[in-house]
Amino acid sequence: MINLTLTEALKKLNNREISAVELTRAYLDRIEKYGADLNCYITVTPERAMADAAASDARRAAGDTLPLDGIPIAMKDLFATRGIRTTAASRMLENFIPEYESTVSQKFIDAGTVLLGKANLDEFAMGTFSKTSFFGAPVNPWQLEKRLTAGGSSGGSTSAVAGGLALAATGTDTGGSIRFPSAITGLVGMKPTYGLCSRWGCVAFASSLDTPGPIARTVDDTAMVLSAMAGHDEKDSTSSKNGFTCTAPLEPILGNGKKLRVGIIKEFADVKVSDDMKSLFEKRICDLKSMGAEIIEVSIPNILDALAAYYIIAPAEASSNLARYDGMRYGLRIEGRDIYDTFKKTRAAGFGDEVKRRMIIGTAVLSSESYDVYFMQAARVRRMIADSFNSAFEQCDLIICPSSAGTAMSLASDLSPLEYYALDLFTVAMNLAGIPACSVPAGLATNGLPLGIQVVGRRFDDMRVLQLAKHIETVAGIDNRPTTIIGK
Ligand code: GLN
Repeated sequence: MINLTLTEALKKLNNREISAVELTRAYLDRIEKYGADLNCYITVTPERAMADAAASDARRAAGDTLPLDGIPIAMKDLFATRGIRTTAASRMLENFIPEYESTVSQKFIDAGTVLLGKANLDEFAMGTFSKTSFFGAPVNPWQLEKRLTAGGSSGGSTSAVAGGLALAATGTDTGGSIRFPSAITGLVGMKPTYGLCSRWGCVAFASSLDTPGPIARTVDDTAMVLSAMAGHDEKDSTSSKNGFTCTAPLEPILGNGKKLRVGIIKEFADVKVSDDMKSLFEKRICDLKSMGAEIIEVSIPNILDALAAYYIIAPAEASSNLARYDGMRYGLRIEGRDIYDTFKKTRAAGFGDEVKRRMIIGTAVLSSESYDVYFMQAARVRRMIADSFNSAFEQCDLIICPSSAGTAMSLASDLSPLEYYALDLFTVAMNLAGIPACSVPAGLATNGLPLGIQVVGRRFDDMRVLQLAKHIETVAGIDNRPTTIIGK
């Protein structure tokens, strides 16, 4: 049962071949078996899951079936869930139980899903290997004995879905946190257009970049989950009126003489990637050509400055967003001599090193001496990148580029902060521009590990992004069934 895709499981549920209770039990068993090894969940919610499943079976029996009725999912532990601990993987929120439900998690309830638990992540979603989690890093189920990273910050979500400990999961992508972890775990991960999925009730990192989105095993599954997550929300002032609805299977966008101009980014051609990434990317381009796509070189002149701009803007917004954790309102409080001492002691004990580093950088770039030199420059670069993408999309319909330079690295690798930041090179520009981008498996490298390619579109072209991703998924044809990756 664990090897069924979401779309297949839904069909079997609807045909009464399986029940939501059976499906949920199978997933809870799998969590029991591999949960500790993978460390993909911070909190598992078995009672809630069984209750959700029973309610789902009852709805189906009564003929009131919901769009994703009975589908067991993992929720990144950044989305507030009423009555269920929501930690952001931080000591600061270790015991925080929200009294409200985030819009995204509410939409999953409304779609009839079953909540298996809250997935591990980097602390406050700041990181690339999920190693900044207060609860320890999740592990990649591929070649488990090697203890590779499942990526970050949504590394618990990707570890869970790839290992068959959830059928789909939510992620958030501020600079690549859905796409990078999905790429290195053989999954599909979609950063939708900014504003398509509500941020309300999702612990804020960098508000102008934070983008909730789906992670699943196939493009069709991803589209189905996005369809449940997206939609206007009055509680989020940046929420878009444009919705996203779809039913699987997605329509082909190539073949039968269909015309499509696919851009490749000139500036990325000189970026060093692994030989496997290089050859798989070229292979997939050939495949697209043979399906009738026209390949066009486009230029995003400032794209290599995206990293520098991102690592100014994101910490700036984070330092402001995380000022609320002061021991007065939420979470941890460590009593000091006076109020300032309490602030200091609480923040010193509650935040990990990476979060502190970002608070310090963010506060520095926003200070009056630095604002014009750093923050304003970064904002200008951001504008230029967004404009360049707009011009590029006058020459082509969609863009493709690698999701990462190489395959999953060992959790034991000792990278400097700057080396970690550099891993976001292929992903941050799309957040700065607010445009949709989907990472889809491109094939397996010679070491047997998966690699991903991104499909990028103009704002609100999420559907075509997914449609092209599906063609790439089909030609790449990797086997990402959980039981071929781990266990039987
Ligand atoms: N790796 C990036 C960072 O550490 C992206 C994180 C994210 O998208 N949440 O900021």
